[in-house]
Amino acid sequence: MLLILHPNTDEESQEFIETWNFLLDLPNVQIKKHNVFGQQQTLTEIYIIGDTSKLDREEIAALPAVERVIRISQEYRILGRHRDKQRAVGFDYNGVHFSQDNLNIFAGLCAVDSTEHVELMMKALQENGQCCTRMGAYKPRTNPYSFQGHGKTCLPYVFELAGKYGIKVIAIEVTHEKHIEEISACLEQTGRPTGVILQIGTRNAQNFELLKTIGRQQEFPALLKRGFGITLSESLNAAEYLASEGNANVIFCLRGMKTSFSEPHRNMVDFSHVPVVQRLTRMPVCVDPSHSVGSRDKSPDGLLEVFHATAQGIIAGANMVLVDFHPVPKKALVDGPQALYLDELPIFLEDVQIAREAYLKRCQLAQKMASHEGE
Ligand code: PEP
Ligand code: MN
Repeated sequence: MLLILHPNTDEESQEFIETWNFLLDLPNVQIKKHNVFGQQQTLTEIYIIGDTSKLDREEIAALPAVERVIRISQEYRILGRHRDKQRAVGFDYNGVHFSQDNLNIFAGLCAVDSTEHVELMMKALQENGQCCTRMGAYKPRTNPYSFQGHGKTCLPYVFELAGKYGIKVIAIEVTHEKHIEEISACLEQTGRPTGVILQIGTRNAQNFELLKTIGRQQEFPALLKRGFGITLSESLNAAEYLASEGNANVIFCLRGMKTSFSEPHRNMVDFSHVPVVQRLTRMPVCVDPSHSVGSRDKSPDGLLEVFHATAQGIIAGANMVLVDFHPVPKKALVDGPQALYLDELPIFLEDVQIAREAYLKRCQLAQKMASHEGE
């Protein structure tokens, strides 16, 4: 059971204390509090976990601090939808809105290799009206002898250049607790010229200790990749680990599934799950066409398969796209074969726009359908 308290309820207030004490006395259940900090208000949610079947819902709804009571399913307690349309979906971070109603593009380098390439990338983004990017500093590689990323040494110039070119949010993968500290310290040192979303890669989707660590901090939102060899439900539970530790600012990313049937794509594109994740949870949903397709192959219509996969995600309602670009893909130290060229960026963005408009038109169809049902 989930209780939504009146907005901005003060924990020192009589109403809160009375409500809290009543809940603490309930038998066979555990009480967990979760704060949602919005721009205008703070919302307190209280989860009653355990055997709630014998609880008197009316009595709980009548407690002084309680605004409403929602019955929740066992799964995805915090991030789930639970058939409640009023709960907020999404969040704002560093001036950028993330929700199930909009779309943000994160085009950038799979791995930072040189200052020059970072600058060329950021400059191209600014010229094309973009304020978000991806920049890999810590790269989890299959082969221990492959380039592992520049790590913390590249952060100062990545952040400074982001500031110079008006980039507000960078998605950076982290694989260890100390990476979060390094990012936080470097942002502080450089005067916070930009913001960071902590990316959790597919290989760490069930690294529960890493998830808990990222969940315990409130400074950065998280972008969780779907695990490449686990069920959707297992990946959504991984997201719930972040939320259950206190950080519900989570974006869920589809990036294709590992199976030999995906050939000639790197991973089996799973973007038909965009609306499924939106139905089951309140998370904005990202797609990563680069790591799904894994090549610059072109279909007979002249469009790259990465463009096609991107459009498939967006036309299904995706809220974010994480896509690899590189000024000189041949020189890229990681994933060069799937990177798009900088001069393809404006065309890519135009294609994104076409797909987004098509999606919005499809939503109007849904409204038409709903009004017919009401007749
Ligand atoms: C990446 O986005 O750079 C990456 C390594 O992706 P994934 O975790 O999906 O393989
Ligand atoms: Mn990559």
